[in-house]
Amino acid sequence: MSKTIIISNRLPIKITEENGEYQLSRSEGGLATGLGSIYKNGHNIWIGWPGIEVPPERQENVRAQLEALNLFPVFLTQEEINLFYEGFSNEVLWPVFHYAVTYAKFEQAYWDCYRQVNGKFRDAVTQVAEENDRIWVHDYQLLLLPEMIRVERPACTIGFFQHIPFPSYEIFRLIPWRTELINGVLGADLIGFHTYDDVRHFMSTATRLLPVNSSANMVVKKDRQILVESFAMGIDFSLFESLPATDAVREHVAALKESIGNEQKIILSIDRLDYSKGIIQRLQAVELLLQEHPEYAGQFSLYMIVVPSRDTVPQYRELREQIDQLVGNINAHYRTLNWSPVHYYYRSFPMDFLSALYATADICLVTPMRDGMNLVSKEYVASRTSNTGVLILSEMAGASKELNDALIVNPNNIGDIMQAIVTGLTMPAEEQQARMQSMRDLVKKFNIHHWVRLFMQRLAEAKKMQQDLL
Ligand code: UDP
Repeated sequence: MSKTIIISNRLPIKITEENGEYQLSRSEGGLATGLGSIYKNGHNIWIGWPGIEVPPERQENVRAQLEALNLFPVFLTQEEINLFYEGFSNEVLWPVFHYAVTYAKFEQAYWDCYRQVNGKFRDAVTQVAEENDRIWVHDYQLLLLPEMIRVERPACTIGFFQHIPFPSYEIFRLIPWRTELINGVLGADLIGFHTYDDVRHFMSTATRLLPVNSSANMVVKKDRQILVESFAMGIDFSLFESLPATDAVREHVAALKESIGNEQKIILSIDRLDYSKGIIQRLQAVELLLQEHPEYAGQFSLYMIVVPSRDTVPQYRELREQIDQLVGNINAHYRTLNWSPVHYYYRSFPMDFLSALYATADICLVTPMRDGMNLVSKEYVASRTSNTGVLILSEMAGASKELNDALIVNPNNIGDIMQAIVTGLTMPAEEQQARMQSMRDLVKKFNIHHWVRLFMQRLAEAKKMQQDLL
C-alpha cells in the first residue's frame, strides 16, 4: 500500500523541557489542521525538524515519542540552525523573495549548509519512502529537496508548495546559486504557489535560467512534464466562525467593549515583526490621519499587535526600535487625558483573545509591502459572524487576488491608506454587509481543507499525465 509523506522544515509540534523531561504537544496552526486529514491516517507520515536542538543521546527517545504521532524527526545541530535556517533561509531567500534585496547576505557558508541540510531531509525521506509513495514538500527552506528525492526514488510522485511569494526573474537572478535552486524545485511533478503572478515569475525564471521549454501551466525538462499552478491557501473557516460564540471569547469581547467605550471605533493590526509587513507605513498613515483630519481624534483607537520574531537579527531589532519610537511619538503628540490613539502590544496572544479582537474590530488594517497570502485578513473575515466590519488590504498580499471586496490599497501610498481608513470609519452598514458577506462566502468555500484536497487531486493528475506520456 502506498502512503503520503508530508515534509516541512518544522514538525507540527511544540517540544518543551520540564525537569529534564521533554514534553510534546501538537501545535494546531491552520496548515497542521489542514494536513491533519493526511498525516494522522494509516502509514502516512510528516517529516521535519522538531524545533529544538536535541542532544544525540536523547534522539532515540524523542524519535519513539514522535513515531506514535505519525511524525518523523530530522535533528539539526545549533550550527545547522544558524546557517541553514537563520542564515540561508531567513537572510537570503526570505529577503530576496520579498523584494528586500538590500537585506540579503549572500554567504557561501550559508549556501553550503543549506545544501547539506536539504541532504539530511533527503536521507530521512529515503529511510521511509517507497517507490509508489506520494510526497508533498513544503516551502522555501527545502527548495533543493524535490530533485534530491527524484534521484533516489525516480518513480515517486512529488509535489512542492511554496508559502511565500516567488519574485520576478530580475530579482531572483541576483542569487549566486539561482540555477541550483530552480533545478532543485523542478524535481517535483507539481509545483504550487499562492497566486498566478508567482506562477508566472517562476515560469519565466525557469525558462531563462535553464534549457527547458514551457507552455501554459507546464515546464518540460528533458523527458519530464512539470505542472506549475496556483493554489490560494485558505484557513480553518469553521474554527474562526465558531469561536466568537464560545464563553471565553464572549467574556473577552465584553471586557474589551467596556474598556473601549461606545464612542470609539477599533482599528486592528496584527503581524509578526517583519520588514515585509509595512508596519511603519501603517503607523504613518494613522499619524497623517490625525494631522489632516483632527476631527477623528478620540473617535478611534489603533490596536496594534506585533508578534516577536527574529529580534536578535539587526534589521529586525532596528525595525522594532523604529516602531517603538513612532508609536511613542504619535501617542505623545495626540493623546488626551482619556484617549490614546495607539494601543501597542509587542507579544503574542492566545487564540481566544485574537478571536475577540477580530470580533470587536470595526476595521482590520492589513498593509504588507509583500506577502505570500496573509492569513490574518482571512481570519478577520471568517470571525465577522455579524457580517459587519471593513477590511483594508494591501494589493501586494496574495489574499488581495481573492478578497476583491476589501478596500484595496498600495502600501507605499500613505495618503491612499489614510483615505481608506476614512472610508472605513464612515462606511454605511449596508455597504459593509454587502462586502463582508461576499468575502465570507469566498473564505468559507476556499478553506484549508479545500486547498489540501485540490492540491492532492492535481498531484495525482500530474502523475497520471506523466505516465500517459511514457
Ligand atoms: N497569530 C498568532 N498569535 C498571535 C498573532 C497572530 O498565532 O498573537 C497568527 C495568526 O492567527 C495567523 C498567523 O499568526 O494565523 C500569521 O499568518 P500570516 O499569513 O498573516 O503571516 P506570516 O506570519 O505567516 O507571515
